[in-house]
Amino acid sequence: MSDTISIRDRMLGGLWGALVGDALGVPVEFLCRSDVRLNPVTDMRGHGTHRQPPGTWSDDGALTLCTVDSLIRHEFDTKDMGRRFLSWYREELWTPHGKLFDVGVTTADALQRIACGISVELAGGDGQFTNGNGSLMRILPIALRFHREPAKTIVDRIHRVSAITHRHPRSQMACGLFALVVRHLLEGAQPDAAVAHGLDAFRVQYESHPWWGAEWDYFQLLLAGNLADLPEQEIKSGGYVIETLAASLWCLLTTRSFPECVLKAVNLGGDTDTTGCVAGGLAGVCYGVPAVPKEWQRALARAEDLNGLFNHFVERAVPPAST
Ligand SMILES: [Mg+2]
Repeated sequence: MSDTISIRDRMLGGLWGALVGDALGVPVEFLCRSDVRLNPVTDMRGHGTHRQPPGTWSDDGALTLCTVDSLIRHEFDTKDMGRRFLSWYREELWTPHGKLFDVGVTTADALQRIACGISVELAGGDGQFTNGNGSLMRILPIALRFHREPAKTIVDRIHRVSAITHRHPRSQMACGLFALVVRHLLEGAQPDAAVAHGLDAFRVQYESHPWWGAEWDYFQLLLAGNLADLPEQEIKSGGYVIETLAASLWCLLTTRSFPECVLKAVNLGGDTDTTGCVAGGLAGVCYGVPAVPKEWQRALARAEDLNGLFNHFVERAVPPAST
């Protein structure tokens, strides 16, 4: 990996990587690991679980794109993000083919509450059984846009955006840890260093605060510091936010290229589109956009729209001097 990868290329890599990872996972979503292994994903394919054409992203990609769109038009406006999420849910904003085919229960419940007039930052579920990966899957643009801010500002904004659909501290902390790792990847750290430094920053932000401390035990798998050494059997890949974060980081730590990382994530089975999306975002930031296969980028639905949106985002997020 080269430290000559620009911030711009890392950001573009993250955004394309997340969409590619989502689309690679869509056709095999919900298949168990052993079933995915009978016909492993090696390339962009269509049909399968949701009967969609190749290059179709799901709710992960769509809500990520809604967030990107909001950050292009506003500095930071959770109300606008919530409004765009609702437009996706009701009017198919940023769907690949104009049709919504996949939405999580916690997200749908939160969007119904927003539709009823609840304040967006209070709309997300806050029960301990609302800790699916539905905010982690869409949080990358916030991590990219505000990576230069102090860690406290980053996690505060991450929490507020998570809360639109997922307001429980565990989901907010998982998104916070993800953003702190992304921050180090953007600065050019290797995966092992980025995860180690991200965990150090995570401890500083959360360890001594009673509000977050009750959740500490749920992060032990990550905090133990030996994630890369764990065998695959110990890596779960369901829809629980802790599983998705751990599996995605494990894939980043145990591979050496974008395709290797994202295919390893998808072929874990389970919540394949989201594990693929989160791992694809991490690997895209790590290796930069030139490492995301062009044929996978071109295979995505609305590839020209994505190209325009992502370039616009990066123009706004990266000061000219740092490209
Ligand atoms: Mg999905």
